[in-house]
Amino acid sequence: MDYPSRFDVIVIGGGHAGTEAALASARMGVKTLLLTHNIETLGQMSCNPAIGGIGKSHLVREIDALGGAMATAADLSGIQFRILNSRKGPAVRATRAQADRVLYKAAIREVIEHQPNLWIFQQAAEDLIVENDSVRGVVTQMGLRFFTDNVVLTTGTFLGGQIHIGLQNYSGGRAGDPPANALAKRMRELPLRVDRLKTGTPPRIDARSVDFSVMTEQPGDTPMPVMSFMGNREQHPEQVSCWITHTNTKTHEIIAKNLDRSPMYAGVIEGIGPRYCPSIEDKIHRFADKDSHQIFLEPEGLRTHELYPNGISTSLPFDVQLDLVHSIRGMENAHIIRPGYAIEYDYFDPRDLKYSLETKVIDGLFFAGQINGTTGYEEAGIQGLLAGSNAALRAQGKDSWHPRRDEAYLGVLIDDLITLGAQEPYRMFTSRAEYRLILREDNADMRLTEKGREIGLVDDTRWAFFEAKREAIVQEEQRLKDTWVRPGTPLGEAVMEKFNTPLTHEYNLLNLLARPEINYLDLIAVTGGGITDEQIAEQIEIKTKYAGYLSRQLEDIAKLRASEEVKLPADMDYTAISGLSKEIQQKLSSSRPETLGQASRIPGVTQAAVSLLMVHLKKRK
Ligand code: FAD
Repeated sequence: MDYPSRFDVIVIGGGHAGTEAALASARMGVKTLLLTHNIETLGQMSCNPAIGGIGKSHLVREIDALGGAMATAADLSGIQFRILNSRKGPAVRATRAQADRVLYKAAIREVIEHQPNLWIFQQAAEDLIVENDSVRGVVTQMGLRFFTDNVVLTTGTFLGGQIHIGLQNYSGGRAGDPPANALAKRMRELPLRVDRLKTGTPPRIDARSVDFSVMTEQPGDTPMPVMSFMGNREQHPEQVSCWITHTNTKTHEIIAKNLDRSPMYAGVIEGIGPRYCPSIEDKIHRFADKDSHQIFLEPEGLRTHELYPNGISTSLPFDVQLDLVHSIRGMENAHIIRPGYAIEYDYFDPRDLKYSLETKVIDGLFFAGQINGTTGYEEAGIQGLLAGSNAALRAQGKDSWHPRRDEAYLGVLIDDLITLGAQEPYRMFTSRAEYRLILREDNADMRLTEKGREIGLVDDTRWAFFEAKREAIVQEEQRLKDTWVRPGTPLGEAVMEKFNTPLTHEYNLLNLLARPEINYLDLIAVTGGGITDEQIAEQIEIKTKYAGYLSRQLEDIAKLRASEEVKLPADMDYTAISGLSKEIQQKLSSSRPETLGQASRIPGVTQAAVSLLMVHLKKRK
């Protein structure tokens, strides 16, 4: 049965990648279908209910700058907001929202249901229709056939998902959800490299059984941070605190004694887990010299007693989970609502993808999210946005797009995945970006919104908001340049007194703002005029104070861009390039880099090899 006839783009999976992919494609005006197991789990947070954090908030802001849903959903559902690294420089500052998971899902579902050009259908996809190495459609569990030339696969941890609690295990996509085994079997028939990874989650605790009086309270920041460029703190629901406690030597003894019952240590799990989000058993094994680890007790929502104990993800047997929880201060009588578990799943080697996230071997088949070896909602969401928009561009007969490493964390993420692959679950950090000062969370809109508008991702409202902000920054910078403060005048005296700063001759306000002791809002309070909007104030302040560093980084980028833009033909025969070692020939042949810049980042490809490639390209011309 063919129902209904055709879509321009079909997205499989309604998680963080799938919802952003479907929204992006539909925003660009193409007829899009979101096919997912269960509409009730659209936007479900499989693990901790938090959006943002170091490196990740940069991705959330980039999603927002390109018109996506994640940041606004975080503003509507965030029950605790903090700025991490607030004392460090602007490059590494990061906004984090603890979310009410029910409100978050509701916010995502509402956007999906109101998005023109987007259809939802609840059903498992079990097969792909592929003809002559091109995707032609999707077959669902009940045999429905949906036709399309563009499929975005965002199946998360569901392909061949195997859940482990101690030495027991069973098939599942995540706790409470079925796995996607039929589709996994079909995907393994395609000529793509596939392997296993694993991730885990802690047991959840009933707050009524916890003694908070012996823990440290951690309230959110005041004033409350905001995630979306277009958001405001009035959108935030009621705010609550998190709580801090610690593991101790008794906890560590319990875990060490039972390591042989851990599926990871008993060799039952083969997939590699996330290095930066390790299980508690991993932490105790790897950092044997530490006798305590911090645990954050994070509320899962406003209308539930459920707590997420961040820091004790585990796949130990349930009796050990109970003992280890009860050994922790304040949790001696804690009731576990849901057991912790680990999940192993299939992922595909992202080196088999193009920068558009389309597979190299099946035309029109795109992958986004955990299926590409990443971990995290934010990493999934931004890949979904890129894959969905490229699928829509392909449907429109247009060229694909992706940002470069110097334009966005999205550029860093995609380039890392496609060039280096993901031997372990990949998560974003600010340290992965070489141009951190340019790629800040506060300027994601300045970096990306114009591009988003050009390809149809940014609607009129967001565009008008952005243009007004950009114009206001230019105007205000000019006003600061044109406004002079002279020593000996009442204004000069007031400035010296307020900031305890010398004025040896006349200065314009922009010169003054460059001084570390002077901030924008205080400056305009003394000198008059100006704009009190926090976002605009922040942009002007950072641009002025870091002007020297920023222009140096821009010079470096300009130099690098030249090699970055040299294209390598897809059919290049690397074995025919004399002088390249066999190893490098093999590496280049299997990675098939798209540019000289990408080739230079493949581990083992030397500068000498890059020079040989350049010479070879010149000869081909
Ligand atoms: P998901 O959010 O998993 O969404 C996949 C969607 O696809 C689901 O809606 C599913 O129903 C649907 N689907 C799958 N197959 C089909 C099909 N055949 N047909 C139709 N629909 C289908 N991240 C961290 O950053 N830190 C952590 O500590 C962490 N721990 C985790 C622990 C567990 C147990 C799990 C399950 C995940 C954890 N994650 C963690 C990962 C985080 O949840 C994911 O990175 C993120 O959800 C990935 O988003 P996604 O869209 O790729 O996939």
